[in-house]
Amino acid sequence: ATPTAIMVGVGKGAEENILIKDAESLEIAHRVDTVVLDKTGTLTEGQPAVVHQFWADKSKADILEQIEKSSEHPLASAVLKALPKTTPADEIPPLKTFESLTGQGVRAQIQDQKWYWVGNLSLVASQYQQLPETVQTQAEQWQELGHTVVYFADDHQILSIFAIQDQLKPQASSAISNLKKAGITPYMLTGDHPTTAKHMASQAGIDHYKGGVLPSEKAAFIRQLQAEGKIVAMVGDGINDAEALATADISMAMGQGTDIAMEVAKITLMTNDLHAILRAFRLSKMTVRGIH
Ligand code: ADP
Ligand code: MG
Repeated sequence: ATPTAIMVGVGKGAEENILIKDAESLEIAHRVDTVVLDKTGTLTEGQPAVVHQFWADKSKADILEQIEKSSEHPLASAVLKALPKTTPADEIPPLKTFESLTGQGVRAQIQDQKWYWVGNLSLVASQYQQLPETVQTQAEQWQELGHTVVYFADDHQILSIFAIQDQLKPQASSAISNLKKAGITPYMLTGDHPTTAKHMASQAGIDHYKGGVLPSEKAAFIRQLQAEGKIVAMVGDGINDAEALATADISMAMGQGTDIAMEVAKITLMTNDLHAILRAFRLSKMTVRGIH
């Protein structure tokens, strides 16, 4: 495309809340045949809320409150909002240690030196040979409904589990359907449990999905698609999407995303509307063909 066409394309994009950082993206976006989407905050609203909780030992709620107050994870604020209030905040003993465990959750120690864990199944599975059957059954039921399950445990038992719901964006399935009609194959990748992933993907109309994916694995997945000859666009919003964004042929950050995602991505969609993905590809096509 000519420099003028590029300028016009970038300008038109801005009018549609599509911010294009480099000319190259605008020139190749129309060739994309595969779109990889992150689940949380990209396909979903990114506003997780606890919808169910089950307690084996409610007296430990104070400790969970301290742990989640120390965490910046979006699930932590959802858990905090739903916690039963028993003790005044200034009477709860502070934590001694707090550590993030990448891909799994967090662990913390209070003054009695005992460790506590908060996170996903892989965190507690590495802790216990087998989960109690009641916990397992409950967790599976919640996952089949598309909920994310958070486990809270000490060194010898599960203290509580939470079902967290994060709804699909209202236009998600129509945007996915339009991508498919345009001959583009959508994939969904998420760190969430495969059963939760399955429910959300099917709700969005996405046939190809993968759960339990670590951030580095998202990038590897994209390299694999590229090795098969696919031209891949990655759409993400989080720190954990940065490597995948940097790997893809076209990188798109959702406007409400983290600064890191927006810094890495060559295109920023300043809207929550997933239809903007296809609009960006169309804009590229018009730019390259010189049609305005
Ligand atoms: P991501 O949230 O991007 O998948 P993380 O490594 O931050 O990656 O966390 C991995 C998983 O651990 C999360 O998906 C969540 O299930 C769990 N987790 C992490 N931090 C917390 C927390 N503070 N409270 C509850 N669960 C958490
Ligand atoms: Mg995310």
